[in-house]
Amino acid sequence: MRKIFLTVFFIFLLSPSVFAATKQTKENRAYFPPVIMYHDIKSKAMNEFDVLAKDFAAQLDWLKNNGYQTLSIEEFISYVKQGKDFPEKSVLITFDDGYSGVYHYAFPELKKRGMKATVCIITDVIGVFTTVYVHVTEKQLKNMAKSGLISIASHTMSHSDFYLIDERARKKELEDSKKILEKITGKKVQAFVYPYGNYNKEIIEAVKSAGYALSFAVGDNGYCDEPARYSIPRISMGLELCKDDQKLFKQYIKEYKDMPADAFIDRWKPLSEDMWRWQGQEK
Ligand SMILES: [Zn+2]
Repeated sequence: MRKIFLTVFFIFLLSPSVFAATKQTKENRAYFPPVIMYHDIKSKAMNEFDVLAKDFAAQLDWLKNNGYQTLSIEEFISYVKQGKDFPEKSVLITFDDGYSGVYHYAFPELKKRGMKATVCIITDVIGVFTTVYVHVTEKQLKNMAKSGLISIASHTMSHSDFYLIDERARKKELEDSKKILEKITGKKVQAFVYPYGNYNKEIIEAVKSAGYALSFAVGDNGYCDEPARYSIPRISMGLELCKDDQKLFKQYIKEYKDMPADAFIDRWKPLSEDMWRWQGQEK
């Protein structure tokens, strides 16, 4: 009985809602433009968070045809730092985890249209491939960074859950990944993405101390900073938003500021433990 109680209590403790501030941040969306969170782009979807290359191209076309401009992370940061309003029709495109589909499918589509995006890299898995996941190589990363269209953000070294590691380990994840990426790209890395979207006040302080200008959530978990530059909400992309000629994607962008907060729940959960078992893989 005690064991069951402890297990339930432990699961409760791990639930993001306990750690993250519960305040929903519709007001943050009143300031920030839509930030789109993609993972992998593929020719054939393997899970619900993959977006097909043809859907990605259709989404870029729709953004372009409807007058949206894509911001680089540097432009995004400069608006935030100066407290300036963002252009009315602007978006930030982000890709989490640095999958190779970003290089093979997304990058050419972005280049074709002169559109910008930010790739959020886990440094331990640069050039690593498993039977399920393939990550960009250092050379591909350099190529993208050189293009002037792709900016690089840190998504830690090992994708460890920040709720489960201690202060020293978090500091190392934050500082070392930044240094590694700056060395590879020759550019300053100023943005950070929380693994699993997990953050709290203490974690935010660590991100600030490591020298990041801002960081991104998964969905919209809420935080009470104004504007909440260390918990910026994102639209979680996946197959569902691509259905019926990108119907939900278009709605999220068009009605971004007026969407109810519960439309931004953290939909993204790893589908199986296996996908995270990349530590120790040979490069
Ligand atoms: Zn991730």
